[in-house]
Amino acid sequence: MNAHSQPPAATMPAPLVDPFGRAVSYVRVSVTDRCDFRCVYCMSEHMTFLPRRDLLTLEELDRLCSAFVARGTKKLRITGGEPLVRHDLMKLFRALSRHLVSGALEELTLTTNGSQLARFSDQLADCGVRRINVSLDTLQPDRFRALTRTGDLSRVLAGLDAALKAGLKVKLNAVALKGVNEDEFVPLVRFAHERGMDMTFIEVMPLGELDGPARVDQYLPMSAVRERLGEAFTLDEIDYRTGGPARYMRAAETGGRVGIITPLTHNFCESCNRVRVTCTGTLYMCLGQEDAADLRAPLRDSADDALLHAAIEEAIRRKPKGHDFIIDRATQAPAVSRHMSTTGG
Ligand code: SAM
Ligand code: SF4
Repeated sequence: MNAHSQPPAATMPAPLVDPFGRAVSYVRVSVTDRCDFRCVYCMSEHMTFLPRRDLLTLEELDRLCSAFVARGTKKLRITGGEPLVRHDLMKLFRALSRHLVSGALEELTLTTNGSQLARFSDQLADCGVRRINVSLDTLQPDRFRALTRTGDLSRVLAGLDAALKAGLKVKLNAVALKGVNEDEFVPLVRFAHERGMDMTFIEVMPLGELDGPARVDQYLPMSAVRERLGEAFTLDEIDYRTGGPARYMRAAETGGRVGIITPLTHNFCESCNRVRVTCTGTLYMCLGQEDAADLRAPLRDSADDALLHAAIEEAIRRKPKGHDFIIDRATQAPAVSRHMSTTGG
């Protein structure tokens, strides 16, 4: 797709290392802010989406991802909004798959709500995608509709079947929501493990203003999730890592893995190896901080990638040591005002 993103070997720029000595090897890229769902913890019912001209084109996304790969990124995760609603997204996957073929990139992956997987799983597998994350908070059709406001559970389940059939390894992610899906933690684990999928639970994070319930009312600490799961499963901590912040346990009864992500109660910043880029080319060095760098201007101002590399280097020098999430009664405003669908989770 693009001839100029790989600098010649002689001038190959140095890998990206932040001031705290952490190498940036994992980049999450949001390819759209749009979505076919309106999950209550993620979006408001009536979202205003960005004008299309503000979005990076697929070619620009390829240049941007390829610049990171040239600087030592080993894992690229495509996310959104819902990435699979972006028109022609498979073109980007096909283009990026050249970095898997060359060995520069170790993993190309995707986070999706699953609604389009019946259509795209085979193509994703053809592009070298091996593992995907699918978000699924409930197995009850009515509850699913209420949580996503627009979603159809049967489509997601058909999508999961297609993904497994295409040979993709699937990890299911559920946001743990107090009084909403608490009674489904055990059924979700059983459902996942019966199909050979990992199951991960995530604490709700204070991102974006919403018109739904207050965060503090949705928040459920992972200790409560563990307690619930402990009623049905014997869980042993295991030393399994996927390069992300999840910590894993094995359920003795099923043999499957259960992951927990605790952005609020457990600080995982010391080992943070990642940055995020929005669909407009804004680079966030930390999910929990406002500081950001614009990569769209350097992409658009020059046909070669020198400005882009300089902007990335300058931004990584500002990667902060850690985040500042807080949810409590005194702090009603979200710690970070952008929505998860902007930075892509
Ligand atoms: N649409 C895709 C999906 O749902 O998987 C990809 C983007 S979505 C923003 C990525 C992940 O962020 C999903 O697993 C979603 O559940 C999670 N998420 C969204 N808002 C969140 C919040 N406020 N706290 C915790 N997780 C959130
Ligand atoms: Fe869409 Fe994913 Fe946000 Fe749900 S969590 S509204 S599926 S972007």
